[in-house]
Amino acid sequence: MDKKPFSSKKPLKSPKGGKPQKRGMKNVAFIAIVVLFALVIIAAYGQPKRQTEISTSQAVTDANAGRYSKIEKKGNELLITEDGKKTPTLKTYIDPNATLKEEGFNTSKFEVKNDPDSSSGSLWGSLLISLLPVIIIGGLLYFMLKSAQGQGNQAMSFGKSRARLYGNEKDKVMFNQVAGQAEAKQDLEEVVEFLKFPKKFAGVGARIPKGVLLVGPPGTGKTMLARAVAGEANVPFFSISGSEFVEMFVGVGASRVRDLFAKAKKNAPCIIFIDEIDAVGRRRGSGMGGGHDEREQTLNQILVEMDGFEQGQNVIVLAATNRADVLDPALLRPGRFDRRVGIGLPDRPDRLAILKIHFEKKPLGKSVDLDALAAKTAGSSGADLSNIANEAAIIAARNNHAEITQHDVTEAFERVAIGPERKNKIMTEADKVTTAYHEAGHALVGHVLPDSDPVHKVTIIPRGGTGGVTWFLPPEDKVYTSLIEFKDVLARALGGRIAEEVILGKDRITTGGGNDLQKAAEIARDMIVNQGMGTKLRDQVFHVEEGMMMERMVSERTYSEDTAKVIDQEVESLITEAGERARAVIKGNLDKLEVLKDRLLEKETVDADEVADIFQSAVLPKTAALY
Ligand code: ADP
Ligand code: MG
Ligand code: ZN
Repeated sequence: MDKKPFSSKKPLKSPKGGKPQKRGMKNVAFIAIVVLFALVIIAAYGQPKRQTEISTSQAVTDANAGRYSKIEKKGNELLITEDGKKTPTLKTYIDPNATLKEEGFNTSKFEVKNDPDSSSGSLWGSLLISLLPVIIIGGLLYFMLKSAQGQGNQAMSFGKSRARLYGNEKDKVMFNQVAGQAEAKQDLEEVVEFLKFPKKFAGVGARIPKGVLLVGPPGTGKTMLARAVAGEANVPFFSISGSEFVEMFVGVGASRVRDLFAKAKKNAPCIIFIDEIDAVGRRRGSGMGGGHDEREQTLNQILVEMDGFEQGQNVIVLAATNRADVLDPALLRPGRFDRRVGIGLPDRPDRLAILKIHFEKKPLGKSVDLDALAAKTAGSSGADLSNIANEAAIIAARNNHAEITQHDVTEAFERVAIGPERKNKIMTEADKVTTAYHEAGHALVGHVLPDSDPVHKVTIIPRGGTGGVTWFLPPEDKVYTSLIEFKDVLARALGGRIAEEVILGKDRITTGGGNDLQKAAEIARDMIVNQGMGTKLRDQVFHVEEGMMMERMVSERTYSEDTAKVIDQEVESLITEAGERARAVIKGNLDKLEVLKDRLLEKETVDADEVADIFQSAVLPKTAALY
């Protein structure tokens, strides 16, 4: 509590700080508008109704007889409110310079308003009323201008960049908080040096790079690394996301870019970080991608600004993307984003390091084996792992554990990997049996085929959107997948549907296999189109350019109609072959299928060891073998 008055008391500087202020202003504006309307309406309709004119002597008589409650003097008019009425109903005329007393009124009998004795009130009162709208409008304008000068006001500053500045100690990230990524860090270390000791490089005539592109899959720590560069170099960090540039109004993005770079130059040395640069930086003019005027202008402005940096300006632009292939080549030219830092999914030691960082501040039970978790999370990104750590803590808290147990960690891993268990989702007995056969089918085919991954767990508890899950763990990080591995993956993907078909009959198959088939079709098409793994189309790949056109995803083919037909045939024959192999395995091991099905119905979840035990003597039929 002691040393952070700045960061805690200045919500406006925090990334989302613009909001409360904006809402406050909206309220004031709204009230002001309502008041204005009310005034206009009162002015138009609120005029007191016409009063009946009576003679002055009549008025004096009645007044002194106590029949009036109030008399108001207005110039040479007297507006008279009768007893029991709320507004003046009568009026009479007198000499404007005479007081009521002089006219013969007994002023103790009624309330007097604006008698010349206290006359100035009248003038000021009416002046105030007529000036009220002006005052309100003035106040409103003042308020708007004031908050427009403040930061983050979007209503008044479309063209201003929404770049956020992270300067607080609290936000600072250092390299040691980023686990693994040794190569990326090494590359970025150089950038830190450029920012820290620009003179050293200028002295030997070296040109300091202006742009560095961080390329890697989502969640691998690109944003984190960019911030760590700023943290290590101890310079301000301006961050904006490419998608924020893409607004409705043409020209807004470009002016934001201008503003962002202007701000950065004022704060040099500093870092500009453009996250998701592919949102603005897509290849221009490919005929794909509708409505790109705005995007192109924004992109052009980025290019112009980067070219406009003079030597020694010492602003380095970092940008992140997971699709470097779609970027406009102009962005990648020398002098722009000419450096590229690749950031990959973490390997096993790195995963362990990331897990350690994220479990560091959590009470971890002795039984928890992080190394085993690292081993079975091949393919997970740093963000996934941090997510697992967080889920584990949540699960531990919900189970009232003082420290996180191995069981909590396992549950967290499964939840992140496939989604939470839906234990209360009701399944009929018949559906349960079908699911048990279906999952046992996947498991059996996967277990028997030699190049499929090992079974990790089979369950008929619905999870995420599925009825049950058969779970295969990829063995230690694999870089390539071979054709026979693909074929085994296809066969086991069809294993569920084929088990239903063999057991229930070919017309009783269910929708439980829909997802599997879709995935299988995707894999098969990828094998043919992108990997050159067909038989007729061996070693040929077919580039498909994808883009958005009129809000629709469209693909542009670079091959002929005839080739398209052959591709379809190739895909079909892969799927057919996979189905036949799965059928052979299931028919050859029906007794094993029944055992696992029964075990599933009994226990709902069966783990790797037990599955291996059940399938111990399962055989690989000749017709299912590839070699
Ligand atoms: P990206 O920008 O590549 O999508 P982020 O930098 O936003 O990924 O990372 C998301 C989160 O994942 C981070 O906030 C961090 O908690 C975690 N993370 C990712 N990579 C690492 C890493 N190498 N070390 C520690 N944490 C990481
Ligand atoms: Mg990011
Ligand atoms: Zn399935």
